[in-house]
This record gives sequence, C-alpha cells and structure tokens, in this order.
Amino acid sequence: MSELSDLYQELIIDHSKRPRNFGQLDSKTHHADGHNPLCGDKLTVFLLIQEDRIVDLKFVGSGCAISTASASLMTDAVKGKSLKAVEHLFQAFHDVLTGKEPDANVPLGKLGALSGVAEFPVRVKCATLSWHTLKAAIQSEAKPTTTE
Ligand code: ZN
Repeated sequence: MSELSDLYQELIIDHSKRPRNFGQLDSKTHHADGHNPLCGDKLTVFLLIQEDRIVDLKFVGSGCAISTASASLMTDAVKGKSLKAVEHLFQAFHDVLTGKEPDANVPLGKLGALSGVAEFPVRVKCATLSWHTLKAAIQSEAKPTTTE
C-alpha cells in the first residue's frame, strides 16, 4: 500500500505545483467563488456549459497544496462530462473523503489520489472546496457566453 500512496502523493504534488486548467476561461456561461476560511483557500471556477454538459472549465485562486491539487484534478475529471455524471462523481468523491463506501459504479480515477485526505478531517474542506464551488457555479444563473 505504501507504494500506492507514494504514487498518490506524487500526483498531488504534481497537480499542486502545475495545476491543470488554471486561468481565465475565454468563453464562459457560469462561475462561482469559493472560500475555505478554516485554511484560507480561495478559488473561482469558470464553466462553459452547453446542453447540460461541461464543455470547458478553468479555475483561478490560491490555497494550500491539497486545495490546488484537488481543483486541478476536479477540472480534469469533469471536463466534457454531463451535469448528471458530475453530480454522481462529486457524491462518490465526497463519500470517499468522509469515510463512506462510494458507489462502485462511479470510477474515481485519479481523484482516488485524494482518498488519504479522509484521515485528516480538517483537510477534507480543502479537498472538497473546488467541488462545492463547481456546484455553486452550476447552480448560478447562466450568463450569455462572454469573451474577454
Ligand atoms: Zn487548504
């Protein structure tokens, strides 16, 4: 198991140092800000949703390694997925982090790298911040696609 957690650790460090999908999104329909006061993590998620699918997304912000890595992994995991699939993925991810048995039909893929966070309850909010912000963005009022 320790080899596996080493791999996971490398993945988290890699994503925290070189976050994927980081920056402003040129064409976006939804966005939301998230803040984790316990740790000081802050981020904004931008989405381009078309026909109930997350066509593209990016995030900006600053925070601890866990929050940045989780946001990076989240954007990779949900890009191109339907809102329904994203909902299921968030549920499974949340279950893993809170020590529940996730739905076996929802493969977590690289998100599983963060499963070790479940052992550190105070860091769970760091790992779920990007997901809660994603959810808030999905539920925010859609704005016409803008180009900056
Ligand atoms: Zn944090």
